Amino acid sequence: MSDLHVVIAGGGLGGLALAQGLRQAGISFAAYEKDPGPDFRNQGYRIRISPDGITALKALLTPRAYEVFAATAATPGPRTDTFDHHLNLLHTQELPHLPGLPGSGNLAVNRLTLRQILLSGLRDAVHYGARLTHYDVNRSGSVTAHFADGTTATGDVLIGADGVNSAARKQYLAQAQVVDAGLRLLYGKVPLADDQARAPLPPESLGLWTTVVGPQRRFVGLAPVRFREPVHEVATRLAPPIELSGVDDYLTCVFGARREQFPHTDTELFAMNGEQLKALTLSLVNGWHPRLVETVSCQDPASIFPVTVRTSVPVAAWETTTVTLLGDAIHAMSPAIGVGANTALRDARILAGRLVEAAAGRPLTEALHAYEEEMTGYGFDAVRDSAAHGHRLVGQDPLPSTQL
Ligand SMILES: Cc1cc2nc3c(=O)[nH]c(=O)nc-3n(C[C@H](O)[C@H](O)[C@H](O)COP(=O)(O)OP(=O)(O)OC[C@H]3O[C@@H](n4cnc5c(N)ncnc54)[C@H](O)[C@@H]3O)c2cc1C
Repeated sequence: MSDLHVVIAGGGLGGLALAQGLRQAGISFAAYEKDPGPDFRNQGYRIRISPDGITALKALLTPRAYEVFAATAATPGPRTDTFDHHLNLLHTQELPHLPGLPGSGNLAVNRLTLRQILLSGLRDAVHYGARLTHYDVNRSGSVTAHFADGTTATGDVLIGADGVNSAARKQYLAQAQVVDAGLRLLYGKVPLADDQARAPLPPESLGLWTTVVGPQRRFVGLAPVRFREPVHEVATRLAPPIELSGVDDYLTCVFGARREQFPHTDTELFAMNGEQLKALTLSLVNGWHPRLVETVSCQDPASIFPVTVRTSVPVAAWETTTVTLLGDAIHAMSPAIGVGANTALRDARILAGRLVEAAAGRPLTEALHAYEEEMTGYGFDAVRDSAAHGHRLVGQDPLPSTQL
């Protein structure tokens, strides 16, 4: 099937990474993203990239784009720490040191920067304002994707990379649930650049991720993103056709708690502006160590937004067809261990490899089945590990029991 054509629904981290791999392999594809443009909404700030993510990006990106990724990634100390709210150290974990990988395998990237790198060379292949509503599997096995604006796209295979609310999953695997994990996050950042460098907890004293756990398991997560070189200068120095927005150093500062700890309904919480969310955060850390409170008070209000933590519930194997799923569309997980994006990137690497085999003649559904078998193994393990860690540390709801 050398004329294989792949339709990707969703232009997030996983969908774009797959697109990069297909482009490198010379496989025809088109991606359809519901947002009107790449910078449309706030999608968060820092993403931890683990060895799985690094390996996937190395395989999928062009060598030059990978170089830009490695040069724009921050390399905080390979350590995670847990403190109580008086800043007594409770636990520290050294992360494995992998000398062959950039940052020894422990990187923190700015989400928008990574997305811009993943978009390099793909501008014409990503269609914006295209929200998948449903699909039809045709008699030949090809799949026609339907979008909200009335347009359609047909390919030999449809990849649902359309995130946690995946329309592809809802139609394909109606039995696959996504549930509220019981946690809400107020996600923001503290500027660290030049004259704004005010964080009373010095970023150089923080590792890859620091959790401060207080009463009722309310918590604050802190993670510095300090670039080794100004981001927009990296692209200029390496001279690839990648446009990177400037971004200053910052400290990710996220408050989280069980939903009943918030004195507001979700509707009220999601209607608040940044100043109100900051005031709410400060009220919920009242009485904590003064340096921690001061750090929270340095958050840029414009950066703060609320997040409902949701998780997939693992499902039993299904019959493979010419529709498949990737990333959060099939294995959304709480950010408790910071591996959701890494798992989506790993999916993209493996699926790209299976599609290359299909393009070379392996029966398509056999190749997709091999992907699904492997992906559901590590993907659902990551969902379970994230839920278990989130439950132990900050009271995330346990996963609903399943037969698996
Ligand atoms: C607060 C927070 C912090 C996190 N930190 C980390 C971290 O440090 N490390 C880590 O590995 N993971 C982290 N994650 C998880 C990570 O963000 C996700 O796992 C990752 O983005 C999944 O990639 P994806 O491509 O599957 O989905 P997404 O990145 O969500 O992309 C899906 C895309 O599909 C589009 N879309 C949705 N519906 C449709 C439709 N119907 N039609 C067309 N397009 C559609 C969306 O607009 C979006 O662009 C974090 C998550 C949160 C909430």
